[in-house]
Amino acid sequence: MDLVLNVADHYVLTPYVYPLSWPEDTALRQIISLLVVTNLGIAVLYLGLGWLSYQFIFDHNLMKHPQFLKNQVWLEIRHAMTSLPIISIPTVALFFIEVKGHSKLYDNVEESPMDWPFVLFSIISFVLFTDGCIYWIHRFLHHRCIYKHFHKKHHVLKIPTPFASHAFHPLDGFLSSLPYHVYPFLFPLHKVLYLALYIFVNIWTVSIHDGAYRMPGPLQEVVNGAAHHTDHHLCFNVNYGQYFTLWDRIGGSYQNPSVLEGKGPLDCISRLTAEGKISSNGANANGHTNGHDNGSGTKSKEE
Ligand SMILES: [Zn+2]
Ligand SMILES: [Zn+2]
Repeated sequence: MDLVLNVADHYVLTPYVYPLSWPEDTALRQIISLLVVTNLGIAVLYLGLGWLSYQFIFDHNLMKHPQFLKNQVWLEIRHAMTSLPIISIPTVALFFIEVKGHSKLYDNVEESPMDWPFVLFSIISFVLFTDGCIYWIHRFLHHRCIYKHFHKKHHVLKIPTPFASHAFHPLDGFLSSLPYHVYPFLFPLHKVLYLALYIFVNIWTVSIHDGAYRMPGPLQEVVNGAAHHTDHHLCFNVNYGQYFTLWDRIGGSYQNPSVLEGKGPLDCISRLTAEGKISSNGANANGHTNGHDNGSGTKSKEE
């Protein structure tokens, strides 16, 4: 984060915001700057990526699903935008330790243990490390003693939109992101690559909530995409994974996505429309719109 902080200081904060008498490397100034930069950055990423995905990728027919909540998009955005500032507090604490030079982040490729091959290896290592950690953290959050206090807020959204991607209880959101922040304290990582991976994980998190099942055939077995994560929202205790299906297969929680078996949310909407239980505008047979469970065809084992 010192790269971002240096750019912010150079172009905005030093010339226009802080008094010139306040040195850039003062702890209090760095913490305030990190809080502002982190909150602005994640808000832009979340709202920008969410909006692009919602406009151009998310199938709006999914909003006709009986389990799509009334005013759901607004609920998702409000939930995320109230949690993200709270999540930013412990996150900035980690960023501050990192800025003070206590991580294994490095500036130049020449400083990496094996030049470019190691930089490329870091990508694989980062993805595999965070994939495994997030799987087990996610399973922990589903523990019956923990679930209702934190993670249930995310599972209220049975048919998520891309805006559900960051809609978590603050503790849930911080724990789920912790592996990304811990990695550079354990393993050497190029600073620019770390920023790129930070953007990538946000894109990925949005993408598994976009309801678009466009994974090429052979990869559907390996990559945990929107099809898998939609079933996680609907069925509760399957497909906990983030990037790959590996840990779900090892942990016994893998379920072949219902959408690949013709039983996904859009199939449900087509069936209910054909049966006259919902109209083409999403209203059910009683004239009500959404927020009702009238037989989605997918059983939830939620407690
Ligand atoms: Zn979950
Ligand atoms: Zn989700």
